[in-house]
Amino acid sequence: MTNKTTRTAQIGTFPVGRVEVPVLPAITATTVLFPDTASLAPIDPDSLRHSGRGPYENFYYGGVGTPTTEAFGQAVAALEGGSFAALAPSGQSALVATLSALLKQGDHVLIVDTVTYTTRWYIDQCLATAGVAVTYYPPDVSDLEPLLRPNTRVVFMESPGSMTFEVQDVAALCQTAARHGIVTVLDNTWAASRCFQPFAHGVDISVLSLTKYHAAPAGVSLGAVVTRTERLHALIKNQTALLGLHVSPDACARASLALATLDLRLNHQERTTRIVLEGFAGHPGIRALFHPSLPEAPGHAVWRRDFQGANSLVTIAFDGLDRPTVNTMVDRFRVVRIGYGWGGTLSLATIFEANEWRTVSRSAARGTCLRIYLGLEDPSDILADLRQALGRS
Ligand SMILES: *Cc1c(COP(=O)(O)O)cnc(C)c1O
Repeated sequence: MTNKTTRTAQIGTFPVGRVEVPVLPAITATTVLFPDTASLAPIDPDSLRHSGRGPYENFYYGGVGTPTTEAFGQAVAALEGGSFAALAPSGQSALVATLSALLKQGDHVLIVDTVTYTTRWYIDQCLATAGVAVTYYPPDVSDLEPLLRPNTRVVFMESPGSMTFEVQDVAALCQTAARHGIVTVLDNTWAASRCFQPFAHGVDISVLSLTKYHAAPAGVSLGAVVTRTERLHALIKNQTALLGLHVSPDACARASLALATLDLRLNHQERTTRIVLEGFAGHPGIRALFHPSLPEAPGHAVWRRDFQGANSLVTIAFDGLDRPTVNTMVDRFRVVRIGYGWGGTLSLATIFEANEWRTVSRSAARGTCLRIYLGLEDPSDILADLRQALGRS
């Protein structure tokens, strides 16, 4: 068994006849031509759920899958340590497909308070209004029992959490959920298919925004729902087909080029993150740095126990600086750019208000915070830029 860096570097190989090509080709077609009526695939609801073992299996309608999307999905599933991947055009649509497939009117769902705001908006505006009972729980909860109801169907986790990166005890939550036959779903985007093995910790369904580390250098939007059982895969794949979440083979082909450098990029960025965190330790004016590798980080002990690394998102909470002051600092950046999204080659800064979206728990951060995504630039250039911009506050 080769190691993960090697497997990631070789991820785009694709069979063409008796040879292979090293780059995933974009086979774009909505229609598939059959040689005769005997081989015409039947129209039945099951046809939407199929997932082949090779890229050319069960290829019957381009919207449901092409050799390109099939090969890309299998690559993502393998990186994530799962058996199947249902692709979607974005992380958000992957989340919607998953939750809408699992929950119906009258069901109860537990959602961690530190979910990404777009996940919360979907839950509050679409699920809760459709008669699903929603309970948010704090990210440091490890005993689910008191929160369970007879109609609890799903436990949703995002670990580390959005913005201030609280690490959840996923294994403990999954153990309790399994005892009660409750499905566990983890938004595992932060870990970039490298830092956390969801299925080794009991997770049933891992949802990924591939728009971040996986494919951001290619500038494409994609999502995936990775599972280990045929039953859950069929449920989600069926839902993505019914919702019409067709995925572009061009997007998958471009994403595949970025995927091949995923491990290499993350190794570099992990080093940059260490350099920046060390460079800012004890910096005057900074109230707290948030990154799971820091000993004072919420859930740090669980991170050390369960994770194989960290990504390059760092949040800075200041000592009582108001928003205009933080804006002025950010406007001084010359290497780090200003923008939403992360995972690409450029370092990016965004500004947010601590605890803006949380309802049942509080982070130690207060006031206006800065989230920095550390990209692929030279770490000393990034550090120098952060120092010149933040130093004069
Ligand atoms: C970005 C992100 C999403 C949404 O993904 P899109 O591909 O932008 O739709 C969901 N969860 C997490 C943790 C994210 O970072």
